[in-house]
Amino acid sequence: MHLFTVGPVEMRKEIKEIGGQQIPYFRTREFSDLMLESDRLLKKFMNAGSDFESVYLTASGTGAMEAAVMNCLNPKDKVLVIEGGTFGHRFAQLCAIHDIPYNSIQLSAEERLTPNHLKKFDNQGISALLVNINETSTGQLYDVRMLSDFCKRNKAFFIVDAISSFLIDSYNMSENNIDVTIISSQKGLCIAPGLSVIVLSNRILKERVEHSNPKNLYFNFNDYITNFKRGQTPYTPCVGTCLEMYKALQLVDAVGLQQFIKGIASVAEDFRNQVKALPVRLPEFPLGNAVTPIIFDKPIAKQVFKILKDKYGLTVNPTGGSREDYVLRIAHIGNTTKEDNNLLIEKMVLAIAEAEKCND
Ligand SMILES: *Cc1c(COP(=O)(O)O)cnc(C)c1O
Repeated sequence: MHLFTVGPVEMRKEIKEIGGQQIPYFRTREFSDLMLESDRLLKKFMNAGSDFESVYLTASGTGAMEAAVMNCLNPKDKVLVIEGGTFGHRFAQLCAIHDIPYNSIQLSAEERLTPNHLKKFDNQGISALLVNINETSTGQLYDVRMLSDFCKRNKAFFIVDAISSFLIDSYNMSENNIDVTIISSQKGLCIAPGLSVIVLSNRILKERVEHSNPKNLYFNFNDYITNFKRGQTPYTPCVGTCLEMYKALQLVDAVGLQQFIKGIASVAEDFRNQVKALPVRLPEFPLGNAVTPIIFDKPIAKQVFKILKDKYGLTVNPTGGSREDYVLRIAHIGNTTKEDNNLLIEKMVLAIAEAEKCND
């Protein structure tokens, strides 16, 4: 069995070993030290400033997105949301629920985000931009420099969900003036679900978070920030996933971040070359390294998914929404190699032939 899915991903042996162990008690010096060391590595890998603060939340990625909206934005804001797929749509829903005024740039299924989309929002008093830098539902990797420039000229906070991009594509908070980075354990870290992290710039801490007063106990960032000064969280964290995070960050550090990302990029590139031989096409917009969406011209995607899973033990990502019959996504993160690509391509040829036969 092999997972070619974007989260949970096919996990490395070293991580699975941790998952089988006794969970330790966590109000200890040892656990605090482990969290503080993880935080040092995490911030190093995203080039966060020394005065940035992190919030370690036991929640899925959506919980972290919601917490960021509640602690960083307010009803006086005028937010711009890049709504290029299901995760962009989630940011729009969160703004609506929390009474944050917003506009969104809605992209159609294969539409690329360009400077033209942004131009009409210049000088409109936009105070924050919300984006999923790699929109996992379509695989589009947006141009971070273009978005960063927009925020700079409009003096807007730059809030980035990097859940399927951090530790997968290069990602640099300081260089791109990013104010908030949201990540989640089951994606780029390639560990169990349950842990999400929000990293906050000094600017947004001073101007927003320190004065925010969300009507909420569990998601109040200031409690987390105060507790984390000693490497602790206010409430019981997913201790086991924290231990896995520590290991995952050490594994990346041992290889070196650039080299680690290069490894994923080369698996993605290998798949993208090999898949040219199959009767599918790829979108034309820029793709991140995390996933390759493949588009069938016949409505056989769900059938191919099922044959791959049930007959060959290979799980790829289906795609929800109106294009579910036409699109599958193949993830390249976690313990996946070019040899795994060879096997997947070989079985995809068979699965497509079988699905086409049923479809005729
Ligand atoms: C997976 C993902 C999320 C979070 O999804 P959860 O199921 O809540 O963990 C958010 N944003 C992006 C871009 C993602 O890929």
